[in-house]
Amino acid sequence: MAFESLSERLQESLKKIRGQATLTEENMDEMLREIRLALLEADVNFQVVKEFIANTKEKALGQDVLGSLKPGQVVVKIVHDELVELLGTTVSELDLSSKPTVIMMVGLQGSGKTTTSGKIAKLLAQKYSKNPLLVAADIYRPAAVDQLKTLGEQLDISVFEKGTDVKAEQIVSEAMTYASQNHHDVILIDTAGRLHIDEPLMNELQNIKDIVHPNEILLVVDALTGQDIVNVAQSFHDHLQITGAVLTKLDGDSRGGGALSIRHITHVPIKFIGTGEKLDAIDLFYPDRMADRILG
Ligand code: GDP
Repeated sequence: MAFESLSERLQESLKKIRGQATLTEENMDEMLREIRLALLEADVNFQVVKEFIANTKEKALGQDVLGSLKPGQVVVKIVHDELVELLGTTVSELDLSSKPTVIMMVGLQGSGKTTTSGKIAKLLAQKYSKNPLLVAADIYRPAAVDQLKTLGEQLDISVFEKGTDVKAEQIVSEAMTYASQNHHDVILIDTAGRLHIDEPLMNELQNIKDIVHPNEILLVVDALTGQDIVNVAQSFHDHLQITGAVLTKLDGDSRGGGALSIRHITHVPIKFIGTGEKLDAIDLFYPDRMADRILG
């Protein structure tokens, strides 16, 4: 599972301090040093780590931890709360207030965009009684259109596709008309990805955005991405003003750094996590649950 070694290391540092009857500035500094190293080794962005440690220290000093009755426990709570804050504090659901709701899925190739589009469509159909339409706008990877068609058949969800010869802009424009004629109340657009970010891709995504006026632009990022997640998220956000992120492959062996950095970098919430290849392996993202999982 993701976060395993980070979790072990943090728990180890906190265990040492939890039981302390008296706490000195020295052993608190030592603990903060250990936490700092654990976060850096888990690939958390350097700037994020720096602020995390500074905030934790400031809060600890502000609450007069050293003079409190159970100082170790107070420090553990401060670290926990700081982690929850870093992850976004509250759960953030999709904005489904518009009729129809248009959700644009963006991200690098292989991040899990197509799979996640299917997962979200299924979730919206089953739990929110919506009638979603999946739109195949990734025309550069022929397999992507077929993959979405297969997903749609498996899930019994309509897929709008025009193969790979029609421009993405035209596909989404026709899909909007089709959706309104066929009473689809959510339109999920699976856009093209690339191995690396490039201008033509961003231009196409911007064009699609201008045509469909999405209520949500969700950046799908693979939790295994590590440090590079910062560049990817920043770049997509600068070009498209994303409204949320989906972290996929949290069931994998990621060190977790990207997950802990992305909110801080983009200031948009993580809305979902992907926890497996199966189509029901998706959850809303609960910052407190994630912090509990990391800190044990
Ligand atoms: P796209 O290129 O961004 O559309 O990516 P795909 O949706 O094709 O996904 C790439 C691979 O990642 C596929 O093999 C998916 O089954 C897999 N995948 C997607 N989400 C998850 C997840 O949450 N966990 C795991 N283990 N695999 C995932």
